[in-house]
Amino acid sequence: MRSQAMFFQRRAGEALADPQLQKNFTGLRDKFVGMRARAVNAYERDFDELRDAGQAIRDRVLDNLDVWLELFEEKATQRGATVLWAKDGREICEQVVAIAQQHGAKKVIKSKSMLSEEAQLNVALTAAGIEPVETDLGEYILQLSGNEPPSHILAPAAHKNLDEVADLFAEKHGKPRKTEIPALTREAREALREHFLSADMGLSGGNFLIAETGSVALVTNEGNGRMVTTLPKVHVVITGIEKIVPTLEDFATLMRLLPRSATGQDISNYVSVCTGTKGADDSDGPEHTYFILVDNGRAGLVGSEFQPMLRCIRCGACMNHCPVYQSIGGHAYGWVYPGPMGSVLTSLYTGLENSLDLPHAATLCNQCGVVCPVRIPLPELLRKLREKQTERGLRPWSERLALSMWAWIAQRPGLYALATKIGVRYLNWLAGGADRIEVLGLAPGWTAGRDFPAPQGRTFKELYKQGQEKKT
Ligand code: SF4
Repeated sequence: MRSQAMFFQRRAGEALADPQLQKNFTGLRDKFVGMRARAVNAYERDFDELRDAGQAIRDRVLDNLDVWLELFEEKATQRGATVLWAKDGREICEQVVAIAQQHGAKKVIKSKSMLSEEAQLNVALTAAGIEPVETDLGEYILQLSGNEPPSHILAPAAHKNLDEVADLFAEKHGKPRKTEIPALTREAREALREHFLSADMGLSGGNFLIAETGSVALVTNEGNGRMVTTLPKVHVVITGIEKIVPTLEDFATLMRLLPRSATGQDISNYVSVCTGTKGADDSDGPEHTYFILVDNGRAGLVGSEFQPMLRCIRCGACMNHCPVYQSIGGHAYGWVYPGPMGSVLTSLYTGLENSLDLPHAATLCNQCGVVCPVRIPLPELLRKLREKQTERGLRPWSERLALSMWAWIAQRPGLYALATKIGVRYLNWLAGGADRIEVLGLAPGWTAGRDFPAPQGRTFKELYKQGQEKKT
């Protein structure tokens, strides 16, 4: 799976050439962007101040991550939970399978967990004879379609339209085909209810871990998270070690940011804070709670120039606003996380050599940086990854040679001005009077799937010089 991130160009080309996929994404483009904009505008205080506060909380944690993790472990253990540590996907799978076997679990119901995708946990559970059942509606749709990977971190089945889901449900549920969303969701709910009631173990991710109480916070819109964490006798939480927040108050601050940035809601439909195991006076809740706190590449980023990436609260705003993601969807990125955050995370978690195109899957327009609720400088991180690829000789020699030549010329103003002039004349000659160039002579790959705009008017330097002359 990891090396699939190497096939970005081919997958992106396929996505662009898929008319159905393009149609499915059309509505989504404006939906998330519009919802966030309305929520941010309606926020009664200064949203940028809230972003500052969110960044400060995340930085405070990351600067002393070990301290907060130890406090979390202590508090969670005091409340009857067992805290385990996993260094990679293999250890996640081993630990979850071992817990399931220890409790004789044959069926595991799951609330959305991106780490379970990182570890390909469903494959491991199935191999061990344990049935995993996804209960998030989007994840459930993907599981029914043969364990397709998610294409969006919030809306995993965003690439599918109503007709495709209607066909899928009719085929898999063996019931008359329905075409109304409420009827389809009711059918999914009925199918899932049986699983909720017969599962031996619940498995969830966690939006935040709260250090002062040893709790996990889950934020959902469907309520499935609550069923997964309370109905079975065993609850396993899998989260990355960076998900810690110090206090409940910090959690409340981040909860003002997360739903507004993600789905444009003031608050999500279900916000659950689960602490420990079922108490003597509790009517429901798990008898056994396990936390599996996962590194899988995260610890190596602490203290590095890429530490800001660990601030991510998985709101999805960066991908919703990314023109590249909007055009190709999530599958082209080849691993669990798509969009700008995915291009950074995949490169860092799976290795630069396994994701050659991803740091370049961005226009660097900075929309992602502008909307990120915890101010992660995504374009800057992408640029750093590009630099590292070049330093390590991972980019094609032709590209490196071209960049070296450009750098050499750019350091010589006279030569740069001359080269720009010649370049503009050459492009205008290629355009032959048209405003677009269909085939770029020296770089035909650039125009293989689009036209190149012909230069308009004179060079910037010529215009600047003219402006200065007018002033004097
Ligand atoms: S990088 Fe920022 S905008 Fe993107 S998912 Fe993470 S928190 Fe949200």
